[in-house]
Amino acid sequence: MNSNQETDAWSRRKFMKAVVSSSALAVMGQFGIFRLAMASQADKTGLTMIVVDYAKCTGCRTCETACSAANHKQTVNGETLNGLGNPETANIRVYPYNPDVDVPNVCAMCPDNPCIEACPVDPDPKTGFKALFRHPETRAVTNDPNRCITCGSCADACRTGTIIPNDDTGLPEHMCTLCNGDPQCVKHCPFGALTHVSVDLDRDFYAMKPDQIAGKLIQKWYGKSH
Ligand code: SF4
Ligand code: SF4
Ligand code: SF4
Repeated sequence: MNSNQETDAWSRRKFMKAVVSSSALAVMGQFGIFRLAMASQADKTGLTMIVVDYAKCTGCRTCETACSAANHKQTVNGETLNGLGNPETANIRVYPYNPDVDVPNVCAMCPDNPCIEACPVDPDPKTGFKALFRHPETRAVTNDPNRCITCGSCADACRTGTIIPNDDTGLPEHMCTLCNGDPQCVKHCPFGALTHVSVDLDRDFYAMKPDQIAGKLIQKWYGKSH
């Protein structure tokens, strides 16, 4: 993106933010049946992830609602339906900063798996999986609540600060599932700020924590240190 494009994108962001205001938690419709196939953009590592165009993000938090609704379903009279979309349970979490910068945070799908490496639970003799493992089909970092000892080591090791233990159970949460290859956050972001792409370690802002990203954006957009 050149400087003119950046200026245009930033202007659009400011304009859209003013328009959207607080309509963030719009009721989400039915998302349909999840696809089991992996995304087509898998790179040689076979890993894909969600990336953010921060210049387009307005902080509307629709992604949180879409993610939570899709990943925390409810069963009503035997029928499986999308959940209520509580943003607190989402796997993508939007961090707001002042001056105005919004940083959606989501798993970076690190190929070297620092969270899994940090898990002290021995691999299961049958499956070879620790209490945290990369799911062989979805490729998402996945927790086995029956083997997890809730030590918090995975959260401590997470580069992006995405993994957060549940306050009540201590189980690690907020690992992106990629929605079985059909990312709902990407589909429902009203501003096209999210994209499902192959993991690229050289990508700007890759595997950084929200504070680090915000610091760079505030410097770039406002000429201030954070
Ligand atoms: S990524 Fe999209 S849906 Fe999420 S807060 Fe930003 S603009 Fe809204
Ligand atoms: S909290 Fe559970 S999954 Fe995470 S490192 Fe500890 S035992 Fe492993
Ligand atoms: S891909 Fe799915 S699980 Fe991952 S952040 Fe987006 S909506 Fe949530």
